[in-house]
Amino acid sequence: MVPYDESVPPTRRRRSLLAATAFAAVCLTAAGCGAGDDSGGTRAEPGQGGSGTSAPPPSKSAPAPDRTSASPTPSAKSAKSSKPSGSSGSTGGGATGPLSGKTVVIDPGHNPNNHLHTGEINRQVDIGTTHKECDTTGTSTNSGYAEAQFTLDVSHRLRTLLQKQGAKVVLTYDNDRAYGPCVDERARIGNEARADAVVSVHADGSAVGNRGFHVILPGLVRGGKADTSKIVEPSRDLGTRIAGLFVRDTGSAPSNYIGGNSGLDIRKDLGGLNLSTVPKVFIECGNMRDPKDAALLTSAGWRQKAAQGIADGISSYLNG
Ligand SMILES: [Zn+2]
Repeated sequence: MVPYDESVPPTRRRRSLLAATAFAAVCLTAAGCGAGDDSGGTRAEPGQGGSGTSAPPPSKSAPAPDRTSASPTPSAKSAKSSKPSGSSGSTGGGATGPLSGKTVVIDPGHNPNNHLHTGEINRQVDIGTTHKECDTTGTSTNSGYAEAQFTLDVSHRLRTLLQKQGAKVVLTYDNDRAYGPCVDERARIGNEARADAVVSVHADGSAVGNRGFHVILPGLVRGGKADTSKIVEPSRDLGTRIAGLFVRDTGSAPSNYIGGNSGLDIRKDLGGLNLSTVPKVFIECGNMRDPKDAALLTSAGWRQKAAQGIADGISSYLNG
C-alpha cells in the first residue's frame, strides 16, 4: 500500500476525477489511507485488523526464492513474450529479444522484515518537497499474507518475463537486506540504472468492498531534489499501458474506490515518484483487505497473470 499523506487534505490532492468524496469516506473508515509515503507512516498499517499485530508475520525465512517464478508460463497472451530466455542474473543484459538494450527497474514495495526495524524505517528522509519515513511495513491480508511477500513474488515473476524478452532487469532489493531500502534510495537505484522504465509493485490495504487495481502516476512537483517535470508525460504513457494490459491479462477491473474507474491515480506525495528522474509508476494490484481481492492476491496463478499484465504494459511502452 501507499497510504496517503494526512498532511494534505484529500480534496487538495490530484485525484483523478470524482473520487474525492468517496475517498474521504473511505479514509474515515479504513486504515488504508493515512500518513506516509511509499510507505505508510507509523499510523495504521492495516495489519492490525484481524490478526493482532500491526506487522505482517512473515517468518524470518524469506519468501521463497524465485523457484516458481518462471513456471506458470503465461498463456501466450503476449506475442512478444516468447523469446528465448536471456541471462538469468538479476541484471540480465546481453540477451536478445524485443527489449534488448532496455533497462527495467522493478521496485518490490516494502520489505518482509521492515517490522523488525521500526526505528530504522521510521527515520525521516528527504523527498525534495518534504520529509517522509524511510519505508513502512506495508499491509497484509487478514490471513497474514504480507504485502511485502506479495510484492517480491510478483517482482520475481515480472523479472523472469522481462528477461525472456531481453531486458536488463534490476530489482531495488531482492531479500538481500535487513530492511528497506528507503524510498529515496529506491528512487536513486532507478535513476542510477538509467532505467527506461521503473515499476514499483504494491497491494493496497483499504476497506472491505473496495476492489481492483490502480496505477499511480507522478504528479508535477518541483522542490529540493524533486523535479518530475520530465517524467510526468512518459510515466503517464507507461502507466496507462500497464493499466490497460493489466485488465486484459488478469481480468480484474480498475479500482472502484480510487481513480473514478480509470485505474489511474496521480500523486505528488510519494518520494519514490518525486525523486525519480526516469519514467516510473506504482501499481496497487488489489486490496489485500477485501476477501475477494485477497483470494486473487494469494493465488500464485493470479500473481503470474498480474506479472504478465505489468510486463506487457512495460513492453508496450518500451516498444512504442
Ligand atoms: Zn505498499
